[in-house]
Amino acid sequence: MRRQMVISSELAERLRQRGWRLTAQRRVVADVLVGDHVHLSAEAVHSAAQAVLPEISMATVYNTLNELVNMGEVLEISAGPGPKRYDPNTTVAHQHLLCTGCGALRDVAPEGADALTLPSDQRHGFQVVGLDIMFRGLCPACTGT
Ligand SMILES: [Zn+2]
Ligand SMILES: [Zn+2]
Repeated sequence: MRRQMVISSELAERLRQRGWRLTAQRRVVADVLVGDHVHLSAEAVHSAAQAVLPEISMATVYNTLNELVNMGEVLEISAGPGPKRYDPNTTVAHQHLLCTGCGALRDVAPEGADALTLPSDQRHGFQVVGLDIMFRGLCPACTGT
């Protein structure tokens, strides 16, 4: 059975409910991180934010992103050799499919991922809280199909 991916993009709403002070600058950063399959680099967040708020600085974008990551509202993804990416979809567990050609990153729900466990003799005393799976390949644009 194919699992339905339902990823809502309500970051700004979640932040409001948490009582996070939504200044204009924070609001813009939260807004550009909205949408399915959105995994922007800090640079891309900055350019998109500047379209709305021309005076927003790179430092503000970095500080806001770090704050959101520390709050657990945005995930930081290290995808290959490129810059870190920021993912607002923290409410639905998902994994990623990376194009090694252009860096496109898609959200996927691989079958069997829930059943994947780390045998106790390989936990090295760790309390395991999560796992990340990265599928790699080439997207249609990069294979020219
Ligand atoms: Zn590609
Ligand atoms: Zn994602």
